[in-house]
Amino acid sequence: MNRAALHKISYGLYIVTSGQDDKFNGQVANSMFQVTSNPATVAISINKENYTHGLIKSSRKFVVSILAEAAPMNFIGLFGFKSGRDVNKLQNVKTKTGMTKVPIVLENTVSYIEVELEKELDCGTHTIFVGNIVDGDVISNEEPMTYAYYQQVKGGKSPKTAPTYVKDEPAAASVGIAARYVCSVCGYVYDPVLGDSDSGIAPGTKFEDLPESWTCPVCGADKSKFEKEQSRV
Ligand code: FE
Repeated sequence: MNRAALHKISYGLYIVTSGQDDKFNGQVANSMFQVTSNPATVAISINKENYTHGLIKSSRKFVVSILAEAAPMNFIGLFGFKSGRDVNKLQNVKTKTGMTKVPIVLENTVSYIEVELEKELDCGTHTIFVGNIVDGDVISNEEPMTYAYYQQVKGGKSPKTAPTYVKDEPAAASVGIAARYVCSVCGYVYDPVLGDSDSGIAPGTKFEDLPESWTCPVCGADKSKFEKEQSRV
């Protein structure tokens, strides 16, 4: 199979929250789609290893908050590359609750939908959860984030538990001879062609020229955790 065929599939980028009784968590997901219009239903694909998976199964409800294109990498990294078993991801994030009482993420999001679980489909590593939309609203008129934008403009990667994760994802096309550096903690690739706009690093800045105080925009690891990308040496 030519895996490049799969890279042509379009996705958005979402934060899925779930839980009950003061035990809540959220995670990034890129596999969400509307199934039917009447009644309005959606489906999401969630890895069984993820903390949120168990919360959806037990609470039978979840919220999908649609990320804005302008969402910074450290915000996406908080929900995408850290586990709710280790940190309270929602502690310092602006949220509100609606019909389902599940936190709705109000920062860096453009809209949300609240869902009550109806069906689930066991798909091996993942479960597809299908549910009825019970409420939803628009938060801002900013552009929603697409997965392509996250990968190509922001330099984002898939965590190992994403449905679309591919070991050794091919590097995004880039020009220049300066080496790219990979975060050994989360897989983020610092591309000198792109720089790091979230941290005020201009395009064209070599990794070696980054200030020592610079940290991975996704997981917060310091420069010492980065390794030169072997394929481009
Ligand atoms: Fe990192």
